[in-house]
Amino acid sequence: MHTMTIAEMARGLRDGAFSSVDLVRAFLDRIERYNDGLNAYITVDAEAALAQAEAADARLRAGDATPLTGIPIAHKDIFCTRGVRTSCGSRMLDNFVAPYDATVVSHLARAGVVMLGKTNMDEFAMGSSNETSFYGPVRNPWDTDRVPGGSSGGSAAAVAARLAAAATGTDTGGSIRQPAALCGITGLKPTYGRVSRWGMIAFASSLDQGGPMTRSAEDAALMLAAMAGFDERDSTCVDRPVPDYAASLHDDITGLRIGLPKEYFGEGLESGVADSVEAALDEYRKLGADLVEISLPNSHLAVPTYYVVAPAECSSNLARYDGVRFGHRCDDPKDLEDLYKRSRAEGFGAEVKRRVMIGTYVLSAGYYDAYYLKAQKIRHLISDDFRRAFEQVDVIMGPTTPSPAFRLGEKKDDPVTMYLSDIYTIAVNLAGLPALSLPVAPAEGLPVGLQIIGDYFGEARLLNVAHRLQQATDWHRAAPGGFE
Ligand code: GLN
Repeated sequence: MHTMTIAEMARGLRDGAFSSVDLVRAFLDRIERYNDGLNAYITVDAEAALAQAEAADARLRAGDATPLTGIPIAHKDIFCTRGVRTSCGSRMLDNFVAPYDATVVSHLARAGVVMLGKTNMDEFAMGSSNETSFYGPVRNPWDTDRVPGGSSGGSAAAVAARLAAAATGTDTGGSIRQPAALCGITGLKPTYGRVSRWGMIAFASSLDQGGPMTRSAEDAALMLAAMAGFDERDSTCVDRPVPDYAASLHDDITGLRIGLPKEYFGEGLESGVADSVEAALDEYRKLGADLVEISLPNSHLAVPTYYVVAPAECSSNLARYDGVRFGHRCDDPKDLEDLYKRSRAEGFGAEVKRRVMIGTYVLSAGYYDAYYLKAQKIRHLISDDFRRAFEQVDVIMGPTTPSPAFRLGEKKDDPVTMYLSDIYTIAVNLAGLPALSLPVAPAEGLPVGLQIIGDYFGEARLLNVAHRLQQATDWHRAAPGGFE
């Protein structure tokens, strides 16, 4: 059962081949067997999952099911879940149990999914390797000496090793697409504003966006349809109808204009990754697409711009963790200042502290114009590059990451090298565009991701273009050994 896609599971549930309780038991058994080796889950709630499965079975019997009813999924531990701890990968929130569900969680629950548990992640979603988690690193199921990517590494590893049918993730600079690429799954970062951020713990509010992590584009279409939609509690959520993403999956792509940014194929790209991307582009040629070279001239400014904007916003967002209202509080504070200082010093890890310090610096009176204001201007230039590109082409393609999964510890002590692993994903967040990563041919046994970037609210087109490749090839069906 665990090897099926969501669409296949839904068919089995509808036809009565198995129940949601059977399905959930099978996944809970797998978590029991394999999670210790992967550390993909921080929290598993078997009892609640089985109760939800029973409710789903009743709905299925009553003929009131959606395509997601009874499907066992996992939530990144950044989404608030009522009654189940939401740690955000941090000691700061190790004891935090939210009194409400995030909108993404309640939308999916309304569709009838079953939550198996909460997945591991880089602390406050800051990282590209899952090594900044308070709960220890996640291991990549394809090679357990390697990182799964981050920050949604637990979700990616869980889906790749078949410890969940699908999972949620969040992407501020690449955290859905990069781990999806490194673990060989499909991950979609929607247009900024497509999915509500309410109840999703804030890192950098103008960049954060939740999305699905799945084994196929078809599954991503089903998940996104349930996750998306207007929410008045998020003032940046866009009031726009949610298309039937599954309906357009099979659309013909003859004549599709694919832009290949020359900046994404140059120095720094490993040859194995380049070859796999080329092989996928050949498939698109066979499917009738036209490939056009384009330029995104400000690409080289994306990483430095992001590392001003994201820390600035995080330093403001994380000011709420003061030891007073919720989260970690130090023992025996001698006064208020001591309470703030020690609670934050003990609660946050090194990477979070680095970002808070950078953010505070770039927002300070003397440096605001030089750094923050300048970064905002460059952000415009980067958006303009994409706007011009989409006058010429329908989608943009390139590698998701410059290399396959790296070894645990390899980049941990070198933040700048770590930051560069998001070099192809970060500009998309600065512009607020949707983008998807899907697995293509592996390089030396390790997964490689192809990134497809779309125009604003072009999720249906992205899913269609990805699905056509997945119909023509088997790359997305590959599974890591050792998790039978
Ligand atoms: N790796 C990037 C960072 O550390 C992006 C993280 C994310 O998308 N949440 O900021």
